Amino acid sequence: MIDYHVHTSLCNHATGTMEEYVRAAVAKGLDTLCFLDHLTFQTAGRDNAMQPREVPMYVDAARRLARQYRERIDVRVGLEVDFSPEHVGDCEDVINTFDLDVVGSSVHFLDGENVVSRQSGWSRGELDADVVYGKYLDVIESMLDYDYFDMVCHLDLPKKYNTHPSPSVVDRFGELLKKIQAKDLAVELNTSGFTYPVAEAFPSPQLIGWCARLQIPMVTGSDAHAPDQVGRSFDQARNLLKDAGYRELIGFSHRQKEHVVL
Ligand SMILES: [Zn+2]
Ligand SMILES: [Zn+2]
Repeated sequence: MIDYHVHTSLCNHATGTMEEYVRAAVAKGLDTLCFLDHLTFQTAGRDNAMQPREVPMYVDAARRLARQYRERIDVRVGLEVDFSPEHVGDCEDVINTFDLDVVGSSVHFLDGENVVSRQSGWSRGELDADVVYGKYLDVIESMLDYDYFDMVCHLDLPKKYNTHPSPSVVDRFGELLKKIQAKDLAVELNTSGFTYPVAEAFPSPQLIGWCARLQIPMVTGSDAHAPDQVGRSFDQARNLLKDAGYRELIGFSHRQKEHVVL
């Protein structure tokens, strides 16, 4: 299996050294580990992401580990970029400067508020679900007008605290999947959801089924913020994907897709 979503202590809310993450992946028998740490330009969340000036050191450290561990595992490096329409140029400057394997795109903030933080009104069930999902989908939809990324991370993230989307919202996710397919993007199957109140992967089994029907390539990611979270719930991920009809996963090397047996 491949884990394409692993953080580092550079984002200020993850623990362990990069080498400890690699060792954890080797111990779990993974074929590939890809660091995908946060890059955030907007004010909200900037302290929970690496600084742009740290990117060279981060990429170098990952490439060093790749050489050191090449007999045991493929180590790759990418970025989880927070989508912010005002900062697309800044993101592209960073992305185009470095030799990255993959760029993931995420939305964690709505109107400057971290909707998926435990401290948010949303997590406490105080906000109208259709309004929050509607805003979230508007942002994802405008994100899909850009071309600087390869995969969409944790597509239905707002369900984290167990407020599921209504059927009409699910249909809108389905419309976005058509746009994702047309752009030849990959969707991440993010297993962190199993450990949150929602207790299921991002995206939901229903959306994974729709991805399969549209033949959208999928990438597995643990969203590990500690070494022992690398590859978490990957047996469940494999079962979900097989049940949906997937026979392979997609990986990335220097931003080119590569097929991986599931
Ligand atoms: Zn994320
Ligand atoms: Zn993440």
